[in-house]
Amino acid sequence: MSHSHNKNEILSHELPATPLDPKTQAERDAKIQVAMIGLCGCWGCTLSFLDMDERLLGLLDKVAITRSSFTDVKRIPHRCTIGFVEGGVANSENIETLEEFRENCDIMISVGACAVWGGTPAMRNVVPLEECLIEAYVDSPTAVEGAKKVIPFHEDLPIITTKVKPLHEVVKIDYFIPGCPPDGDAIIKVLDDFVNGRGFDLPSEMNRYD
Ligand code: SF4
Repeated sequence: MSHSHNKNEILSHELPATPLDPKTQAERDAKIQVAMIGLCGCWGCTLSFLDMDERLLGLLDKVAITRSSFTDVKRIPHRCTIGFVEGGVANSENIETLEEFRENCDIMISVGACAVWGGTPAMRNVVPLEECLIEAYVDSPTAVEGAKKVIPFHEDLPIITTKVKPLHEVVKIDYFIPGCPPDGDAIIKVLDDFVNGRGFDLPSEMNRYD
């Protein structure tokens, strides 16, 4: 197989999304739209979303999952009823993504320690950003000997925030699911309650980590 394709050739060979037939699409659009996005986290909370496993099947007559680890949807196609967010805010792209999601989301839920209070990435908050970057790119023990040591900069790269922030310091958050990561049991409980009109109620036994 030839590896000589340039980027444009590869893109032009990508398969277009297969449209659903109008009836199936209408049925899907009528359901409660659920999405999950990831910001500055480790994707562990996203794995907990996957850990809902077959329990999600029982909700699929009422729920349509759009952008999430279950699908390959890159953009949320229309307004979302329930939005889960993993990870905190650590750069300008995180802020942009979060604000756009908030505008298009009725109920927004912070999932996991990084989203709720900054989590592990927020450990850098006790050190000035410049020192963090020098440690990572200049003084790093894994820096290649003799190589030019520079802190990456390009106008297309997201700007790193001076502090890692929890989501609620950037946008309004309606509910919080703590844990690192929260159990899939907690996520399915919250989703099942909302879908069946019971509201948010996470019992303390699902919030214990001792
Ligand atoms: S809360 Fe824990 S599991 Fe979730 S993204 Fe942060 S570090 Fe990963």
